[in-house]
Amino acid sequence: MLNYIDVNNLLPDEIEKTIKFLQSILGLKEKDKSTLSKLVNRENENFCCPFCESINIVKNGHAKKGTQRYKCKDCLHRFCDTTNTLSNYSKLTYDIWLNFFKCMNDKLSIRKTAAKLELNKNTIFSMRHKVLNALSTFRENTKLSGEIQCDEKYESINLKGTKPQQMPRFSKSRKSQGGSKRGISDHQICIASAIDENDNIYFKIVGNGSITTKMIEKAFNNRFGKNCILITDCKSSYEKFCIDNKIKLEQVKSGTYKNLNGYTLSEINALHSNLDLFLKRFVGVSTKHLQQYLDWFVYQKYLTYSIEILEQPQVLMNYALSRNSYIKISDIYSISFPIDIYDVYSDFSFAPSPQI
Ligand SMILES: [Zn+2]
Repeated sequence: MLNYIDVNNLLPDEIEKTIKFLQSILGLKEKDKSTLSKLVNRENENFCCPFCESINIVKNGHAKKGTQRYKCKDCLHRFCDTTNTLSNYSKLTYDIWLNFFKCMNDKLSIRKTAAKLELNKNTIFSMRHKVLNALSTFRENTKLSGEIQCDEKYESINLKGTKPQQMPRFSKSRKSQGGSKRGISDHQICIASAIDENDNIYFKIVGNGSITTKMIEKAFNNRFGKNCILITDCKSSYEKFCIDNKIKLEQVKSGTYKNLNGYTLSEINALHSNLDLFLKRFVGVSTKHLQQYLDWFVYQKYLTYSIEILEQPQVLMNYALSRNSYIKISDIYSISFPIDIYDVYSDFSFAPSPQI
């Protein structure tokens, strides 16, 4: 019916009536169980079989709640739009998810979000981590080109959420064995980071201790466009990486703002300060989950740069909900460390011996 109304010709009372009508439909759609799967369907441009990625799929009836079902003609699996997305098995409706994403966009804590949505803290924890897991695809697809400022950031290891029996313990006999075998920086997580001239950002945990050429390779392998220029400080690990990969390098000496060709590291430095403020809100992010929080930080930056503030929660929601990235709650709790902490703490003792 509405398709045929020319809104410009409506009088104010008719507009009021139309708004009321639309609002009543909006309320129904937000609670409708099939809305999420329709949204995922619309957002999923490369719709394919979630099991074998074939596009040889046919419609295969409807499920009870009215969602479309499909069958893959290659692997014969049956599935629906939300299979393998984070709303898979979710009983929550569109309006609850949207409110959740509003809280996320405001970077509210899990406790505050739970209070606002009147949901259990564990539910919010798993929603949060399912969303963060979905955001990893944004990082995986990030390409950097043109002038790229590149640096690394260090964060202390945080063992929050680690079971007591798996915690490294300080060995009393350590000193008598000749003190620490390793430098302090081995107890720091190394995050390779970069921002290009189009504000594409990339943050990736690459290990512990000072950055090496191998770690730079691990972070940026195949991520740089042709003819790019890497702007870094004077560390030799970047020099070697650029020689090995035939990339043009501009170095900025520490303590100087610009090099002779006018290149600076100001944007990557500003991002590092932003990241400190971002992580501070969450009062200590466990090293286990640090990469997920880095992915969130980067996606949030993308939203800030390119989406109007009021539309940000919806864009975040549409993106996260339609990723092919289902993760079980048990997998969130058992996520492993991005580095070998038992190697890092090898001059500490464990009780009992490590088993992960
Ligand atoms: Zn298939």
